[in-house]
Amino acid sequence: MIADTLAGIVGAEHVVSDDAGRAFYSNDLSFTPVDIAAVVVAPGSTEEVAEIVRVANEAGHSVVARGGGMSYTRTFVPGRPNAVLLDMRRMNKVVEVNTDDMYVIAEAGVTWEQLYLETSGVGVRTPYWGPLSGRYATVGGTISNNSVFFGSTKYGSTADSVLGLEVVLAGGKTIRTGSWAHRNGTPFTRYYGPDLSGLFIADTGALGIKTRASLKVVPMPAASVGLAFSVPSFDVSNELLLDIARTGLATEAYGFDPLYNGVFADLGFAFLRGVEWSIFAVVDGADDATAEAAADVVRAIGLRHGVEIDPSVPMAVRADPFGAVRSVLMGPQGEVWMPIHGIFPRSKAKTAADACVAYFAQNDDLIKKHNIKLSLLTLASGTDFIFEPSFYWTDELGEFRLEKIEKEYADEWAKIPADLETREVALRMRKELAAIFDSLGAVHLQIGKWYEFQSQVEPAYADALLALKRALDPNGLINPGSLGIE
Ligand SMILES: Cc1cc2nc3c(=O)[nH]c(=O)nc-3n(C[C@H](O)[C@H](O)[C@H](O)COP(=O)(O)OP(=O)(O)OC[C@H]3O[C@@H](n4cnc5c(N)ncnc54)[C@H](O)[C@@H]3O)c2cc1C
Repeated sequence: MIADTLAGIVGAEHVVSDDAGRAFYSNDLSFTPVDIAAVVVAPGSTEEVAEIVRVANEAGHSVVARGGGMSYTRTFVPGRPNAVLLDMRRMNKVVEVNTDDMYVIAEAGVTWEQLYLETSGVGVRTPYWGPLSGRYATVGGTISNNSVFFGSTKYGSTADSVLGLEVVLAGGKTIRTGSWAHRNGTPFTRYYGPDLSGLFIADTGALGIKTRASLKVVPMPAASVGLAFSVPSFDVSNELLLDIARTGLATEAYGFDPLYNGVFADLGFAFLRGVEWSIFAVVDGADDATAEAAADVVRAIGLRHGVEIDPSVPMAVRADPFGAVRSVLMGPQGEVWMPIHGIFPRSKAKTAADACVAYFAQNDDLIKKHNIKLSLLTLASGTDFIFEPSFYWTDELGEFRLEKIEKEYADEWAKIPADLETREVALRMRKELAAIFDSLGAVHLQIGKWYEFQSQVEPAYADALLALKRALDPNGLINPGSLGIE
C-alpha cells in the first residue's frame, strides 16, 4: 500500500488516507467533479518530497502539490485517479532573510502572511507581497499560479519577485535555478544562463514540485498615503486606474464597482453610500515628503477624472492586509463567490469591459431569475489591466469555505442548502465569459485545468511546451492535466 510506504518516509501522523480527508484535500472551490487522491501526505523537507516523488512515480502514482488550497480553477485537483496529493503546508520555514544581498529564502508552504510578518520584522518585504488570500495561500502555490495584489501596481505579479527556485522533478531529482544553480552560488539574482525559474512559474504545478523559493526584498516603506476617488462610470474608472498605473508611483491601485462600494458602505464606510464606481490607491515612500509628493501626482490625475473621497478603504486594507478572506470568499449574506479574470493590455481594456457588460445585459433575464449578483473588480499589475468579474449566488458553502468564516456566521450559513440549478447557470456563464475574454486575447493566472490554454496558444508553442514536459516528466506523473497536458 502506497500509504504505508509514504508513512515510512514522513511518519504516519502526516498521512491522510480516510475517505473524508482525501475528499476534502482533493476538492477545490470550483464546484466541478474531481478524482479523489489515493492518499494525502505532508512532507517536512525537500529530501522527503524527493523520496515521496521517487517512490510514488516508481509505483505509477501521479503526484500533485497542494498549497493553501485557495484556487478555484482545478489547479491542484487530481487530474487522474490514484494520485498522491502533497500537502505542502508543513514546509513552513522562512530559511533566510538576507538584508545585505536583499533576498529571502522560504519553504514552499510558508504563507504570505507569515512571510510578510517575518520579513517586515527586519525592515524588508518582498516587492509583490501577497494575494488577498495570503493568510492561507502559500509561496509555492502562488508562484505556481502566478498572482497579483499587494505591491502589484508598482512591482508586477509574483513572477517578477522571484530570484530562484528549488524544484523536485519527476523521479525525485532536485534542481535549483538562477544563481542558485551555481555550485558556489547563492540565490541573489535570477539570470545565470537561460531562465529556468520562468519555466516553473505559472505552470500550475505541471513541471515539478517547488520546495523552496528565493524572492527579492525591498526596504519597508517609512510612509504610506491612501487615495480614493469617486468616478462617474466604469469606463472612467478604468481610464483612471490605468493612468495611475503608468506613473509607476502607486504600490496598489484597484477599482470597486457599485456592489462592492455598497458592501463596504454596510461595513461602516458610510461615505461610500451612493458611490457607484471608485478607484483606490496606496503610494509608499522612503519618508513622508517622498510619499506625499508622489501622492500629489496621483491626486492630480484622480481629480481630472473624478472627485476625491475619504481614503480609509485602502488604508484599512493595508492595516489588515490578509484579514479579508471571509469578505472576499463569500458575499455579504453568505453567497458563494465565483470569479473569473482576464489580463489585458491597456489598448484592450475598454473592449474587454464593454464585452463583459454587454454579455451580462444579454443574460439579464437569467441573472434576475436566479438572483445572481455580479461584481466587476479591477486592478493594475504594472500597466496591465486585471479584470475580475464575479458571480455570487446562494448555494451550499461546503466544509472548506465554512472553516474560514467567523463563528457568528458559521451555524446559520452551514444550513444553506445546495441550489444545483442556479449553480449550473452561473458556472455556464462563467465559462462563456472566459471564452469571450479568450477571443480578445486575455491571458490568465491560475490556468490549472479550467482555463482553455492549449487551444489558445499557437500550435508550435504548445508543441515546444509538451516537449519540455516530456523531457522533465516522461511518464506524465506530475500534476497530469495541468495546463491541459496529460
Ligand atoms: C478569498 C480568496 C482571495 C484571493 N485573492 C487573490 C488575490 O488577491 N490575487 C490572486 O492572484 N489570487 C487570489 N486568489 C486566488 C488564490 O488564492 C491564489 O492563486 C493563491 O496564490 C493560491 O495559493 P495556494 O497556496 O492556495 O495554492 P493552491 O491553490 O493550493 O495551488 C495552486 C497551484 O499551485 C500548485 N502548487 C501548490 N504548491 C506547489 C508546490 N510547492 N510546487 C508545485 N506546485 C504547487 C498546485 O498544484 C496548484 O496547481 C484568492 C482566492 C481566494 C479564495
